[in-house]
Amino acid sequence: MKIDIITIFPEVFNDFLGNSIIKRAIQNNYLAVQTINLRDYSHNIHLKVDDTIYGGGSGMLMAFPPLYDAIQALKTPLSKVIYLSPQGKVFKQNKAKKLAKENHLIFICGHYEGLDARVLQLVDEEISIGDYVLTQGELATMVVIDAVARLVDGVIARTSVENDSLFHGLLKQDEYTKPEEYQGFSVPEILLSGHHENIKAYNEYQALKNTYLKRPDLLRKKKLTSEQKKILNQVQEDLKPK
Ligand code: SAM
Repeated sequence: MKIDIITIFPEVFNDFLGNSIIKRAIQNNYLAVQTINLRDYSHNIHLKVDDTIYGGGSGMLMAFPPLYDAIQALKTPLSKVIYLSPQGKVFKQNKAKKLAKENHLIFICGHYEGLDARVLQLVDEEISIGDYVLTQGELATMVVIDAVARLVDGVIARTSVENDSLFHGLLKQDEYTKPEEYQGFSVPEILLSGHHENIKAYNEYQALKNTYLKRPDLLRKKKLTSEQKKILNQVQEDLKPK
């Protein structure tokens, strides 16, 4: 997958792109990521890319001409142009799955009061990372790229990705690592039993319990199998005050 990021702060992405899974994905050619400095497309001798707002709004807006030129220079028929914005549809795992199948994503990072609204006519999707207002689109772009990149084929083992919370619409069970006991805090015994079927059943129960306790809204959207419904009934029964 090719990813282009239009930003006035390309250096903000250095650590993000130069570490961990994203770094490996780039080294192994699953991702080709470049940052584009919007100031390279400035029409101004001082490389300005913002201006005052018509009608007298407070603050500054990112101007249309540099963004238009940058998008035109990058866009192909296979591109999807995404503007990170508090006005967008809130980003969810299902959107990450869909974006992971695209060929070319172009991200626009907003600043100031946002963009001249004409840019929206060149944008395929507006995405918000949550109902709050950030000062910049760079952080939001990193969030979306991180969530999408791990779903691109080859970047992470499929089994790992598919076992994650939200992939199938539920949360994952709690997990533990060594040591078995520390300062009186123990790992549940069943996980040490080596009995694979019991462990699988325990994990399925714990996953539904986590979802029920932490994100009951997910259970309203998810079509549970009859086996899952039985387990959920058991969870609810076990949680009733005795
Ligand atoms: N004045 C704009 C409004 O009210 O819609 C908000 C502009 S915000 C201060 C500056 C930039 O941060 C936006 O252009 C956008 O790129 C980014 N941003 C802010 N909140 C965001 C969110 N929740 N999700 C994604 N991007 C966000």
